[in-house]
Amino acid sequence: MDRLGPPLAEPVFDTLAIVGVGLIGSSIARAARRLRAARRIVLSGRSQATLDRAMALSLGDEATLDLAKAAAGADCVILCAPVGANEAIGRAIAPALKPGAIVSDVGSVKGAVVAALAPLMPQGAHLVPAHPVAGTEQSGPDAGFATLFINRWCILTPEEATDPNAIARVAALWQAFGSNVETMTAEHHDLVLAITSHLPHLIAYNIVGTAADLEDTLRKEVIKFSAGGFRDFTRIAASDPTMWRDVFLNNKDAVLEMLGRFNEDLTALQRMIRRGDGDGLFKLFARTRTIRRGIVEMGQETAAPDFGRRAAEAD
Ligand code: NAP
Repeated sequence: MDRLGPPLAEPVFDTLAIVGVGLIGSSIARAARRLRAARRIVLSGRSQATLDRAMALSLGDEATLDLAKAAAGADCVILCAPVGANEAIGRAIAPALKPGAIVSDVGSVKGAVVAALAPLMPQGAHLVPAHPVAGTEQSGPDAGFATLFINRWCILTPEEATDPNAIARVAALWQAFGSNVETMTAEHHDLVLAITSHLPHLIAYNIVGTAADLEDTLRKEVIKFSAGGFRDFTRIAASDPTMWRDVFLNNKDAVLEMLGRFNEDLTALQRMIRRGDGDGLFKLFARTRTIRRGIVEMGQETAAPDFGRRAAEAD
């Protein structure tokens, strides 16, 4: 499936509020509008310029900088700002939530989000944290596209006592967007994403940083011959600095655990190279190749070179 389905027979929510209309928030707005997944979409955020741009792109029915006003009357509020902003946003919207309202988010870290938001939820409101495992290195309302979530996972991390009906409605929204929904604990999510997403970003930031620190002539050569592998790291290392700063600050333990393992394995590789252990290197590289094949077979990537991402991003 590479296209959104037809408009839904019944919207999932009457009023959907989206706080933070960047790459993810604007993609949700675009998909929700196309599918008529909400009767009314209210946009909110921190800068009038972004809201003006979002309205010019027809992403919502109305827009306001007043977070409480956006949340009042919403059946569901989805927080789409960087993870570090969630607590302040939660404080602003909590008093305005109507009974039975659902608060969800899209943060790449879940334990810290639950810890920040759960204590703020008024009686009768439901917190259903979500993480769409989909994105690009672009930011802002122009970067989003309605098909971003198709055939991608969306992980929900509700606490055990959460109202099943609220979880089902959030799941229904993501399924309508074309995502496969899976539920797990926030702690488990953070451990899995530490190795599949957070550590790869850290490695990319580090290698591109190392290259940037090389002396001038060598650095120019790195850019010139970047197709040798470096270019793929630069794409990841171009991701939003605020978002990724917040990810590392809010998933400290899991990232440090995975970084520890990574360092041990790197030391083992270093030893193999020093000792000329070709068999050891070959065995590892053959094993890692099968992981890539598995990802392609599961439809999470194409076998085309250059990631095939340009085609996948077409709206
Ligand atoms: P983005 O394009 O930079 O958009 C973030 C939006 O949040 C911007 O519109 C920004 O406003 C707004 N914002 C920032 N601080 C705010 C605050 N204090 N109050 C209200 N709004 C605020 O970022 P994104 O890539 O969409 O990421 C948003 C969230 O999605 C993050 O939590 C991230 O972890 C998660 N996520 C990202 C990806 C990805 O690949 N990018 C994938 C999955 C999940 P301005 O326009 O004024 O700057």
